Amino acid sequence: MSERMVVIGGGAAGMSAASAARRTNPALDVVVLESTSYIAYGLCGLPYYLSGVVATADDLFAYPMERFTKDRGIDVRTAAVVTELDPDGQWVVYRMGERTLRLSYSSVVVTAGATPVHVEVPDIGADRTFAVRTLEEAIALRGLLDAGKVGSALVVGAGYIGLEMAEALVARGCSVTVVERLDQVLPTLDPEVAAVVEGHVRERVDLRLGTDACAPGLPVVDLAVVSVGVRPAATLAAVAGAQTGPAGALLVDAQMRTTLPGVWAAGDCIAPLHRVTGEPAYVPLGTTANKTGRVAGTVAAGGSASFPGIVGTAVVKVFDLEVARTGITLAEARAAGIEAVATDVVHRSRAKYYPGGSALHVRLVHGAGGRLLGAQMVGCEGAAQRIDVLATALQAGMTVGDLMALDLAYAPPYSPVYDPILIAAESAARRVEAS
Ligand SMILES: Cc1cc2nc3c(=O)[nH]c(=O)nc-3n(C[C@H](O)[C@H](O)[C@H](O)COP(=O)(O)OP(=O)(O)OC[C@H]3O[C@@H](n4cnc5c(N)ncnc54)[C@H](O)[C@@H]3O)c2cc1C
Repeated sequence: MSERMVVIGGGAAGMSAASAARRTNPALDVVVLESTSYIAYGLCGLPYYLSGVVATADDLFAYPMERFTKDRGIDVRTAAVVTELDPDGQWVVYRMGERTLRLSYSSVVVTAGATPVHVEVPDIGADRTFAVRTLEEAIALRGLLDAGKVGSALVVGAGYIGLEMAEALVARGCSVTVVERLDQVLPTLDPEVAAVVEGHVRERVDLRLGTDACAPGLPVVDLAVVSVGVRPAATLAAVAGAQTGPAGALLVDAQMRTTLPGVWAAGDCIAPLHRVTGEPAYVPLGTTANKTGRVAGTVAAGGSASFPGIVGTAVVKVFDLEVARTGITLAEARAAGIEAVATDVVHRSRAKYYPGGSALHVRLVHGAGGRLLGAQMVGCEGAAQRIDVLATALQAGMTVGDLMALDLAYAPPYSPVYDPILIAAESAARRVEAS
């Protein structure tokens, strides 16, 4: 029998793993088992499909199914739910309709993603409550929006996906209430930076902080979108004995091996190394899913690759704002017992005399000796691309003094002569010198 790799899950990580495996070892039998009807679509694009910016669900697919099945020779089985993984016997059990089937493997890559945390919303039926974690759900919600059946909506959770959903619903003409149990929006930012976003959100929706979905006095709405976070879908491997770490995600090495022999994992179900803290961290994002999937597939198929870790870089559009972060926040540094301070500046995104610029809030988080630990940025323009400079600086292990010396591009329509990053670095470096 030829060697067989089984990939559990046909999302970003799974299809990256399957494709990489096929490239690495063309003789390998590669089987993808996916529980839904779709593979390889842009989950990150769902809010834009709902708002109508993306016209049809078809536009979300990176490639047609045939690209994987015919061109790459990958055996993709949809509506196939894996229910058991046996690392000793090297087989998985999966359900397809009424049938329960067993499939042996020589290697398995677990890419089951993450499961949204469920919250009951009083007075709204299950058929009107959406988590929007799958294309199926997004198609159902878009159907209601297109049919003009949604005049008002409740969004539960003001994390980045909740706010993207709120924006999409506002774009469709809905009156939107957002409830958040915490006292800030975007809990992955420090509260002072989140406050800038909060003001912007309040101008566009009815935002209620410190409020949960069961709070009295919430308006009667047509439907609810629940977006209160996800849990890694790690149970199959964990039950089989794989070690887990933060948030219950699977622990992996740089080659994406779990602690079980012959079992690799990638994407939203793992906690990769965070290069700033040196510890595993659960930061489920599409970029990491694609990269770790590719590494897992390559190595599991006999090739060589490694994933050096993340620095936690993320960006989100919140109505007219670009909101970005990398590294760790001040709150995260303190929680991890890392000595840190934050330096904040507000500077223009373009030369003062050039029309159209806007204020850019920059927070640098730095530690002993001025070591850069993280950054956050909020503004109507200039945050999304600039954060990548700081992510690069973090990976290079720079100090705020090193940042000051960067030769960053300048032209009036794009930046002031001293870029906001350099202004923030200078301010931080002065503090380091004075301390
Ligand atoms: C609305 C939204 C917006 C987002 N926006 C961004 C963004 O802008 N930037 C960014 O970096 N990230 C974003 N993300 C996160 C990003 O989409 C995920 O990190 C990425 O999709 C994870 O890929 P994955 O392959 O690990 O998991 P998934 O894409 O979730 O794929 C996992 C697959 O496994 C299948 N599966 C699960 N269990 C089983 C089983 N037992 N048997 C068979 N199949 C199974 C699931 O059906 C699923 O298809 C967003 C996510 C959402 C929901």
